[in-house]
Amino acid sequence: MLDKSNASHTSPPKLFVLAAAALLVVAGSFLLISTRISAIWTTVAVGIFAAMVVVLLGGLTALMGIRRGQLPKTLHGFAQWSTAALYPAAMLAGRILGLEKDRVRGSFIEIHNQLAAMKQVKAQPDEILLLLPHCLQWADCRHRITVDVNHCRQCGQCVIGDLLDLQRQYGFHMAVATGGTLARKIIMDLRPKVVVGVACERDLAAGIQDVRKIHVVGILNERPNGPCYNTTLNVADVEKTIRSLVQ
Ligand code: SF4
Repeated sequence: MLDKSNASHTSPPKLFVLAAAALLVVAGSFLLISTRISAIWTTVAVGIFAAMVVVLLGGLTALMGIRRGQLPKTLHGFAQWSTAALYPAAMLAGRILGLEKDRVRGSFIEIHNQLAAMKQVKAQPDEILLLLPHCLQWADCRHRITVDVNHCRQCGQCVIGDLLDLQRQYGFHMAVATGGTLARKIIMDLRPKVVVGVACERDLAAGIQDVRKIHVVGILNERPNGPCYNTTLNVADVEKTIRSLVQ
C-alpha cells in the first residue's frame, strides 16, 4: 500500500508560516478577550502575543531568506531558532486547521534544510555521519547491519548496498539506528560536525529538534510499502547532499 504521507515531499514552506500565522490570530483573539477579564490575564496575553510576534518575525525572516536564496549571517541563528520555536505552534495550528501532521512536519524539514544550505557548512568526509533508519534494510535480510553496516553483503535487495558503495567512495561515516535512543547514542559517540539524517517526517522533525548543536540535513525516505517497512530512498539525492557538504 502506498503511504500517502509521501505527498508531503512537496510541502511549500509557506504552509508552515501560514499555520503559525493562524496561531498568531488565536493569540491575538486571546489578547482581545483577556482585556475584558482582568489586568493579570491581559499581561499574560500581551506576553504571549509579543512572543508570538517575535517568533513569527523570525519565521518571516526565514521565508524571505529562502525566497531570495540568501540570508545575512547574523540572521541565520534567529531564523533557525524561530523556525524551531514555530514548529510546535504550527503543529497545533495545523491540527486546528485540519492539516495533515506530515504536511506541517514536511514543511518544517524543508525550511530547515533550506536554511541549513544557506549556511554553506563544509566538512571533511570523516566529520560527516549518514544516519539511516533500520526500515531501509530489506525486512528478510539476516545480516546485522545495525551492529556494523559492513555486514551488508550488497545483494541488491535494498539500498543499503548502494549507500555502502557511496560511503566507501567518499569516506563518510554511516550507521543504521533502530530508534531515536540509538540514533542519539551514535551521534554522542561519534560527535560528527554534520549529520545527514534519513527518516520519515515524524522522526526527522523530532531528530532536528533534538540535535540543535550539530549541523543537520534531513532527507525523507520513500515508503512504497507503507510506513516502517522496506522503505527506500533516492541514492542520488544522498550523493548530491554529501557532495554539497564535502570541502
Ligand atoms: S543490500 Fe545488504 S542490507 Fe540490503 S538485503 Fe542485501 S545484504 Fe541485506
